[in-house]
Amino acid sequence: MKGMSSLRIIQFSHILGQEKAKRIVQQAVLSGRVPHAYLFTGITGVGKTSLATAMAASLNCKSRKRVEACGKCSSCRQISSGNFPDFSLISPEGGAIKIRQIREAQDSMRFAPMAGPYRVVILDQAETMTDEAANAFLKTLEEPPKGNVLVLNAVEPANLLPTIVSRCQRVPFVPLATEQIVDYLVNETGMQGEKAVVLARVAEGSLGRAIAMAQSDFLEQREKWLKKAMKIPELNAAAAFDMALELSGEKGADVEQGSKYEVGGLLDLLGVLAMWYRDLLLLKTGGAQSLLVNADLLGELKSFARKFKLLQVYESLLILDQAQRDIRMRRNKALVLEKMVLSLRDLARSSTQIS
Ligand SMILES: [Zn+2]
Repeated sequence: MKGMSSLRIIQFSHILGQEKAKRIVQQAVLSGRVPHAYLFTGITGVGKTSLATAMAASLNCKSRKRVEACGKCSSCRQISSGNFPDFSLISPEGGAIKIRQIREAQDSMRFAPMAGPYRVVILDQAETMTDEAANAFLKTLEEPPKGNVLVLNAVEPANLLPTIVSRCQRVPFVPLATEQIVDYLVNETGMQGEKAVVLARVAEGSLGRAIAMAQSDFLEQREKWLKKAMKIPELNAAAAFDMALELSGEKGADVEQGSKYEVGGLLDLLGVLAMWYRDLLLLKTGGAQSLLVNADLLGELKSFARKFKLLQVYESLLILDQAQRDIRMRRNKALVLEKMVLSLRDLARSSTQIS
């Protein structure tokens, strides 16, 4: 995809939003008093790893301008291309950060940094540490070796050992605004604005998720399922069961291997359907069309809207909401979806009979 670079972000100004988090880290860098461990919290894909990388560049840059790395010196270039000897990013392997990975990091930290004043070690998705790994890591936090800055990324501090949390300086990250994600997708990847709005809404504040979706076949999946959803009112019982069966087997979009984003799974598809009905609601109540998520399918939306009364749209939304909750609670998928499709169908039919 156009504009997608494999180089890491090494400048604070290139990170979307997160002004508060940036300020906390930049002040520490400028004051020369960087804590030995940070805990970056917030949903995946909002810039935690990028901020840690920008901090590493800023701390090691050979000609820093105020707080921003120059982007040109050997340290900057190595960090940007992922070859800096004093920078490591530890990610879960097979769903967990293992004790072996922690031991390797500890071995590297026994020596002073080689290329610059600071070594930065990032633990991405730190909450996936096994108990063994977490206990081993705690030792490092208790006696942090000089010249090292540890950064733990986690969605929720509650999922980490309290003894780990209490030894880190916490920096909260917030979900990004829909407009920020739309602007990024349009300007950096050349995506069409209407498609970008769909991805930004489904991604719920996570730029990383939006990018993963942009690189997958999520948008095609969405169109396929919306087309099917538009036929729900006309389905006979057998076809409704078939549709539920197909939905329940939905594995999700093709995402790059090793991606931490599960994209296009059943919940995402139900989310897509819910947004479709919310758009119907907007049309029915005369809301601003600029708020439509599925603006690229306006013609289809309008003709579908004619089949419903306002109350039926509300009730459809309740049916979808219930299905999403049932799936999250791991109720029997096939049953949940059969009930959902049949309820949506019966509701739509009752609507045509009334009008
Ligand atoms: Zn530099």
